[in-house]
Amino acid sequence: MTSKTVTLQPGNHEMPLLGFGTWKIPKDQAASVVFKAIESGYRLIDCACDYGNEVEVGQGIKMAIEKGIVTREELFITSKLWNTYHHKEHVPMAFERTLKDLGLEYIDLYLIHFPISLKYVPFETRYPPEWGNMEQDPVPVHETWAAMEALVATGKVRNIGVSNFSAILLMDVLSYAKVKPAVLHVEVHPYLNNSALIKFAKSQGLQITGYSNFGPASYVAFNDAAAKATPLFEEERLSKIAAHHKKTVAQVILRWLVQDKIAVIPKSADTTRMAQNADIFGFELSSSEMDTINSMDINFRLNDPAVYANIPIYA
Ligand code: NAD
Repeated sequence: MTSKTVTLQPGNHEMPLLGFGTWKIPKDQAASVVFKAIESGYRLIDCACDYGNEVEVGQGIKMAIEKGIVTREELFITSKLWNTYHHKEHVPMAFERTLKDLGLEYIDLYLIHFPISLKYVPFETRYPPEWGNMEQDPVPVHETWAAMEALVATGKVRNIGVSNFSAILLMDVLSYAKVKPAVLHVEVHPYLNNSALIKFAKSQGLQITGYSNFGPASYVAFNDAAAKATPLFEEERLSKIAAHHKKTVAQVILRWLVQDKIAVIPKSADTTRMAQNADIFGFELSSSEMDTINSMDINFRLNDPAVYANIPIYA
């Protein structure tokens, strides 16, 4: 049976393989959705400055702790440094803002959200800054990474990592990191399995978290290619595997990942789906079923800043 946690290096902290995503959860629902997610058994909450709802997500966490559903120590909270705060003097400011918004004394994992540095936007001007006017202000990754390491030294962050980094950028960070990145957070679903990058990152001791596990589902409203693609929930090979196990396609996709020790962070505001997405540890896919899903890769990337920000980080 698959363990429900993995041990992160270098700090030896346990990270749940199942987490809950908070991107696009409207502010007015975020507190109750996060509370319900914790009530349904989720112990990892994936947050970010950029999601614009950290205050409300923090309220949901607080409610769950106050009602005795969990202790802070039983939760694993992730957040991410936004692109406008890569300069060394902005990293601690941005982190403290996230910590304050979430209402926490520490977070378990802080990630560089993208290997993209945009011009600084003061909090008073706009928070979260979003992609702003896309004005780039290049900062070497080693500067940002050293500032992330300094956060670990304060004890307010237990692990640091990177998101949307390629193998070459990981090699760069690994060449000078005094505190190694514990986690690589990247888009992973059957249409984009990112296998070469994941194999490399795992070989370097990083734990992988896959995001947007349901592929096009979360992008249909604003991405034409996603809207035209066959939804994974209707995909024939996945449906067949799901029927065989008397599970849903969503559960099969999540199971495919956790069985390979890749952490998942599905998002749903619907409590039935929330519970369904959490029920992935009681069945096992055969190696031929794993191979079938691995063979579905069509290199279909949905979250590509080349498309919406004209910054081709994967070129
Ligand atoms: P997702 O892949 O979890 O899909 C969400 C969509 O699937 C929603 O439309 C939801 O209603 C639907 N859905 C969820 N469960 C379902 C089920 N059981 N049956 C049918 N439909 C179901 O979407 P996501 O939000 O893109 O990704 C998850 C999380 O990953 C985000 O919330 C965020 O926390 C994180 N993320 C990180 C980055 C990054 O750059 N690091 C980028 C995107 C997302």
